[in-house]
Amino acid sequence: MSVSTAAADQSVCAPLPVLGRDVTVPLVTGGEVTYAALDYAASAPALQRVWDDVAAYAPYYGSVHRGAGYLSQLSTDLFENARVTVAEFLDCRADDQVVFTRSTTDSLNLLARALPADCQVFVFETEHHASLLPWQDVARVTYLNAPRTPAQAVQTLERALAARDPYGPALVCVTGASNVTGELWPVRELAAAAHAHGARIVLDAAQLAPHHPVSVRDLDVDWVAFSGHKLYAPFGSGVLAGRADWLREAEPYLAGGGASRKVTRREDGGVTVEWHESAARHEAGSPNVIGVYSIASACKALTEAGWDTLVAREQHLIAKVREGLADVPEVKILSLFGDDAPRVGVISFVVEGWNSSHFAAALSAEYGIGVRDGLFCAHPLVRTLLGTDPQTQGECGAPEAAPGEKSLNAIRVSFGAGTPDEHVDRFVAAVKELVTEGAKWTYRTEEGRCVPVR
Ligand code: PMP
Repeated sequence: MSVSTAAADQSVCAPLPVLGRDVTVPLVTGGEVTYAALDYAASAPALQRVWDDVAAYAPYYGSVHRGAGYLSQLSTDLFENARVTVAEFLDCRADDQVVFTRSTTDSLNLLARALPADCQVFVFETEHHASLLPWQDVARVTYLNAPRTPAQAVQTLERALAARDPYGPALVCVTGASNVTGELWPVRELAAAAHAHGARIVLDAAQLAPHHPVSVRDLDVDWVAFSGHKLYAPFGSGVLAGRADWLREAEPYLAGGGASRKVTRREDGGVTVEWHESAARHEAGSPNVIGVYSIASACKALTEAGWDTLVAREQHLIAKVREGLADVPEVKILSLFGDDAPRVGVISFVVEGWNSSHFAAALSAEYGIGVRDGLFCAHPLVRTLLGTDPQTQGECGAPEAAPGEKSLNAIRVSFGAGTPDEHVDRFVAAVKELVTEGAKWTYRTEEGRCVPVR
């Protein structure tokens, strides 16, 4: 996977309009500023286009798959068309299924429940907990050590798959872009390695899909999962798309209406159920129609904006942040694959002499900048990158790291299609000022969070 960089600033397009772009927040030091939302990796703001589409549809909202009324039929058509839009967005194969879920976490848990008997799962210890944890109660899991290069990732996987015993069904789960380092993983190569060894692969595209085109066909992955709220569609829906066979053969993720085609009483008093074989099998209950509609709207909006343009703009912002932080010797950017690795707009770092929670709190209270601090639901990865004890407790309220000491948590800045230059410029200037002049306010830890003293 390669990512182009913006040739020159002049060639970079304007940000896409998002909600909240004019929201102002109070500063602890007095006055107000426009909020700089730089936590896209957690949840991105809604695209204005998504919001407008949802508002235009809302009066026509109706129950799907059941109602005889006009609005029910219209909503059913829109719901089913959304599958087609998502399949196109992901460049799925003709016989792939698109299942609507609540989120990436939900999608991966669904797949975990659909594994064939005696399936072995292979996952790098560097994964987000959503990709790391769903498997352990349902399969034999091999946790692979953190690789230090993309090539090492492929080698590590190949060795582990070749050595598996018995040589039965296997699934590899890998993230496309890290929610900690923003680095792209060699998905195509990992997929080739998996298939060469008779395994399948699911791509966690929670951080990839909002920043980069994803082609199921080209990457040759078996499934892909992502969340609407990171893709500018914050209405509580997610996607699992890919091979139909394991999904069709599995017990429904949830038992209930919508998933069942026919239910009959038996003479022995019980009931017999025929489950659907389509995606509906795993979508029991009334689905989140607005959430699904909003994902389809976001897919269309990003495609229409054009990936070359979006990627060029994001690379321009990444360069600004990385170059700005490189001027501050106290800042250390966390990286697994090194400076030259292709990446998306997610950057984690520590500041020598600062508790990351304190730094993040000061960015918010004194500059109106929203970032995240902590271990980012990828505890083993962040501890590896920080070089701290894997057993260390205390994600919150970690003590201030004295010069030369290791921080116990990190700060993450992340951005995307709606981010104006001013937000990243303000961020870089704020980091420089905090490091050279210190915080202007006093902070204390309250219930594990660092907050300004009022
Ligand atoms: N995978 C990655 C790489 C993520 O960054 C996240 C969210 N931080 C998830 C999975 C889980 O996404 P969700 O919370 O929407 O289920």
